[in-house]
Amino acid sequence: MADKFDCIIVGGGVAGSTAGYMLARVGLEVLIVERGNFSGAKNMTGGRLYSHSLESIFPDFAQSAPVERKVTREKVSFMTQDSAVTMDFQSDRLGFQSKDSYVVLRSQFDRWLADQAEEAGAMVASGILVDELLVRDGRVVGIKAGEDEMEADVVILADGVNSLLAQQIGMRNEIDPHHVAVGAKEVIELPPSVIEDRFNLNGDEGAAWLFAGACSDGMMGGGYLYTNKESISLGLVIGLGGIGKSEYTVPELLENFKQHPIIKPLIKGGKLVEYSGHVVPEGGYNAIPKLFGDGVMVVGDAAGLVINTGYMVRGMDLAIASAEMAARAFIEAKERNDFSADSLFCYQKKLEQSFVIRDMKLYKDFPAFMENPRIFNEYPELAAGLLTDLFRIDGVPNKSLKSKAFSALKKVGLVNLTRDAWKGVNAL
Ligand SMILES: Cc1cc2nc3c(=O)[nH]c(=O)nc-3n(C[C@H](O)[C@H](O)[C@H](O)COP(=O)(O)OP(=O)(O)OC[C@H]3O[C@@H](n4cnc5c(N)ncnc54)[C@H](O)[C@@H]3O)c2cc1C
Repeated sequence: MADKFDCIIVGGGVAGSTAGYMLARVGLEVLIVERGNFSGAKNMTGGRLYSHSLESIFPDFAQSAPVERKVTREKVSFMTQDSAVTMDFQSDRLGFQSKDSYVVLRSQFDRWLADQAEEAGAMVASGILVDELLVRDGRVVGIKAGEDEMEADVVILADGVNSLLAQQIGMRNEIDPHHVAVGAKEVIELPPSVIEDRFNLNGDEGAAWLFAGACSDGMMGGGYLYTNKESISLGLVIGLGGIGKSEYTVPELLENFKQHPIIKPLIKGGKLVEYSGHVVPEGGYNAIPKLFGDGVMVVGDAAGLVINTGYMVRGMDLAIASAEMAARAFIEAKERNDFSADSLFCYQKKLEQSFVIRDMKLYKDFPAFMENPRIFNEYPELAAGLLTDLFRIDGVPNKSLKSKAFSALKKVGLVNLTRDAWKGVNAL
């Protein structure tokens, strides 16, 4: 193995492999170092990939990549302990190329992306943990893994949410529990025909379903369900800051979630084939760390680039786009033969001009808004109460819809409701 590369990328997730592919395809010498035995071995997102950023690099990727189902059905539910109020959107409008999204299983998907980087000429070294960065005269010049030292013009940190390497060189602080959530996920195997019947899907169509309310036991967080080809990914994402206050552990919350009357019939007869846990950045725009320094750039989750608005979770499309921009910034820096922070500033500039930082900024107040416990307790109860009144006929003289709504709203308080609605609209 050469011991001086143009660029070394730490982490072979979606960000790392994208950066590796972009650099290798223009003939640069790139090393991607991944601690897992293969790319995706340590990854768990049974999630949905918004395709636009990958599509711009690999047009038609979904025809050859291991995607599970194209999402044509979106659902959002507000849950109480015994009920759910659900918004359901099913439409062909969701399926247009590059505006579409796919459910993916990361262990397969990341492997495919790493293969693309390798085929383009990147060297992928799996099963190797990078222990520290080599720093000379205040400038990052390479990596250290065990006894091995390797040098490069620039190191791209794509090592995920808990980037210890970025911490080591002071580019970010230790994880703040209020800036991350913990995700727990089960993959439950079911025959494709059962999945299609239960979710009203045809062929390769898929459903994405997010849940707020009782599933997080009043804490910041929520649940998700994605349909794969032959399984369902079911999980919870719970803000780390609140977990200590709950009487339940995260695995117990997931078990309760599976017993909920809306979930139980959907997974009935399914076989649990995988259980995993991972951390998710939740701090939003205000928690983005320093993105570049002398000889170093930070991308994807390591840069805190995740948007969680409750009805959508986006990390992969931002990770891919940020990695692409870091690669382009490196190519420009290589042309100048200048890898100083001043030269790599063009990475931040590219991010700021793109949807990445613009979207992060747009939702910057959302993490603070989500700290409001009423969202997870009172409002799901309010919606369920209102609909119970609406649909239940019991022979007692009926009240007008207006007075039913008013008595339900009084429980939360009109001032609270108005204030929360105002904050919510502004945060979104
Ligand atoms: C439960 C859950 C649900 C999610 N749902 C969605 C969703 O539906 N849609 C979406 O877009 N996003 C979702 N996300 C977020 C998404 O998973 C991330 O934003 C995305 O994976 C970030 O990619 P990345 O390449 O930056 O980091 P990662 O995918 O975390 O990759 C980092 C890689 O670096 C490796 N690594 C770390 N440290 C080292 C080291 N020192 N040496 C060598 N290798 C190292 C790791 O093994 C890993 O492979 C979810 C996340 C979780 C946890």
